[in-house]
Amino acid sequence: MNSKKLEQFKEALVELRGDILGDVEKNRKSSQTDEFAEMLPDTTDEAARLSTRQMILNLGEQGRDRLKLIEEALGRIDDKSFGSCQRCEKKIPEPRLRVVPFAQYCVACLDEIEKEQNLERINTIK
Ligand SMILES: [Zn+2]
Repeated sequence: MNSKKLEQFKEALVELRGDILGDVEKNRKSSQTDEFAEMLPDTTDEAARLSTRQMILNLGEQGRDRLKLIEEALGRIDDKSFGSCQRCEKKIPEPRLRVVPFAQYCVACLDEIEKEQNLERINTIK
């Protein structure tokens, strides 16, 4: 994958991460012009930092899992392995990456993994 495309996926991932974290900083800046900001004249950087931490704590398991996947995908962009399936190492199709930029597996492997998990579930029931 060329570096321009990698850069685009990186931006998408950073944006997703921002969405999850609530992007306190951006919200604070954009709200400075409206009434909300005037109601909160003592919003400090410290308060913003604290609320970011609080948001991570409040994310819940699903949010933290997703955040982890996004961080891992960003790591794969840095080490140039981004876009390859973590199981069979085949390329993950770009349309899929556009929908799920933090995808770890190709669709075939995802099916396999789901089947395996279902089998495990059946085995544990026995
Ligand atoms: Zn695969």
